[in-house]
Amino acid sequence: MKPFRYQLAPDVGTAVSTLAATPNAAFLAGGTNLVDLMKLEVEQPDVLVDVRQLTSDRVEQHPEFVRIGAAVTNSTLAADPVIRERFPMLSQAVLAGASGQLRNLATAGGNLLQRTRCAYFQDVTTPCNKRDPGTGCSARDGFHREHAILGASDMCAATHPSDMAVAMVALDAVVNTQGPHGQRAIPLVGLHRLPGNEPERDTVLEHGELITSIDIPSLGFAANSQYRKARDRASYAFALVSVAAALDAVDGEVRDVRLALGGIAHKPWRATRAEAVLRGGAATKEKFREAAAAELADARPLPGNEFKIPLALNMIAGILTELLEVRR
Ligand SMILES: Cc1cc2nc3c(=O)[nH]c(=O)nc-3n(C[C@H](O)[C@H](O)[C@H](O)COP(=O)(O)OP(=O)(O)OC[C@H]3O[C@@H](n4cnc5c(N)ncnc54)[C@H](O)[C@@H]3O)c2cc1C
Ligand code: SF4
Repeated sequence: MKPFRYQLAPDVGTAVSTLAATPNAAFLAGGTNLVDLMKLEVEQPDVLVDVRQLTSDRVEQHPEFVRIGAAVTNSTLAADPVIRERFPMLSQAVLAGASGQLRNLATAGGNLLQRTRCAYFQDVTTPCNKRDPGTGCSARDGFHREHAILGASDMCAATHPSDMAVAMVALDAVVNTQGPHGQRAIPLVGLHRLPGNEPERDTVLEHGELITSIDIPSLGFAANSQYRKARDRASYAFALVSVAAALDAVDGEVRDVRLALGGIAHKPWRATRAEAVLRGGAATKEKFREAAAAELADARPLPGNEFKIPLALNMIAGILTELLEVRR
């Protein structure tokens, strides 16, 4: 590992200005992703600014939203009674990720900004446009079972690994930041980028922009929600495909729905096409499958991950059917 300087900032403003003034510096939270990548020499910051004590580590209820401090650990978030009751899909998504020990250390801010698990990205001996722009993409002709089927580019087909982000995108979460140019409230659906010609850029955040909290707007029917994750092992594995869904169905009709997918794109994927098919339509298995097919119509799999299309179709239809039956 390359030597680096560790720095504790007294407050958010100092952390932001320190980072903004130091091109090769990074924020450190739980370190469960960043430190691994430093050991692999994928990330080689000169300075680490520890922000773990700077933002809130509490989940707070407000009249219109629930605010999750950026330093809330994954364990605290998953166990929070308000999250479990009002947004069960979020608690389930967090519990579907990593292990108990990791969740005790990992934070909400760090989870959203963890980097792809593409094996070539993590192996500095191989070409990778995301790690080393312009060198090529080893995954296209290599191992890409876990890679994207929607929104990929010729430059990169990596997926975003966060489970939490998928549930939060379905719930219209808003990410609050403080950066060198002030504060911003960024809808989570717009935080992560598609790879395009700049796969090295994961998000729209500026260098030195700190996530301070995440707001989940109130949504009554989110109490009827679920997160489901298909993976190669029953635990301690990233999603091949995941689905977060909340359903409001009355008298055989879908009044409202929230749907997002994970493991299939460079960003947590809000399934807006499927939602449009579902809203106001019949709450039937046939309609659920039609909606899933509409979402996946533009899927462009690589030869080794074509299986993700039928898997996603079945998971979307399955989770909606289950939410419908729970409601009856
Ligand atoms: C073996 C293993 C299995 C895992 N399995 C899963 C899984 O199945 N599902 C899943 O979702 N995750 C999984 N994870 C990932 C884990 O959840 C993340 O590593 C963790 O959430 C990252 O949080 P952290 O606080 O440790 O972030 P760090 O590692 O400290 O930081 C991650 C990134 O975020 C930046 N950062 C941190 N906080 C902020 C902030 N407030 N503002 C701006 N930038 C910030 C850092 O600079 C860094 O770039 C796994 C990890 C491991 C090691
Ligand atoms: S898919 Fe993206 S991260 Fe993986 S090797 Fe290709 S460019 Fe790198």
